[in-house]
Amino acid sequence: MSEEITNTPAVEPAPAATAARPERPGRAFGKKRFESRRKVCKVCAEKIDNVDYKNFQFVKSFTMESGKILSRRITGTCAKHQRQITKAIKRDRNLAILPYSLPKK
Ligand SMILES: [Zn+2]
Repeated sequence: MSEEITNTPAVEPAPAATAARPERPGRAFGKKRFESRRKVCKVCAEKIDNVDYKNFQFVKSFTMESGKILSRRITGTCAKHQRQITKAIKRDRNLAILPYSLPKK
């Protein structure tokens, strides 16, 4: 009877498996999983107080390849400058400097 009881734990592989498992790096508390870079307003960074529609190369950098205006969420521009950029892009579209839309490739 006693032999049977001693044999059963030796067969179990469970303690070895838990010891072999390394620490899960993602689950550690108080640590960030990835370093998120702070988005900075491009207009503020270049110290431009008013976005000019004539500076279309700069304004164009806030549009997608298809011609859509990129959102603030993506570019990180501040609300004030996003308003100026949208106005400038729409102005440039009307002047045929920037496209309203381009076909998808
Ligand atoms: Zn700004």
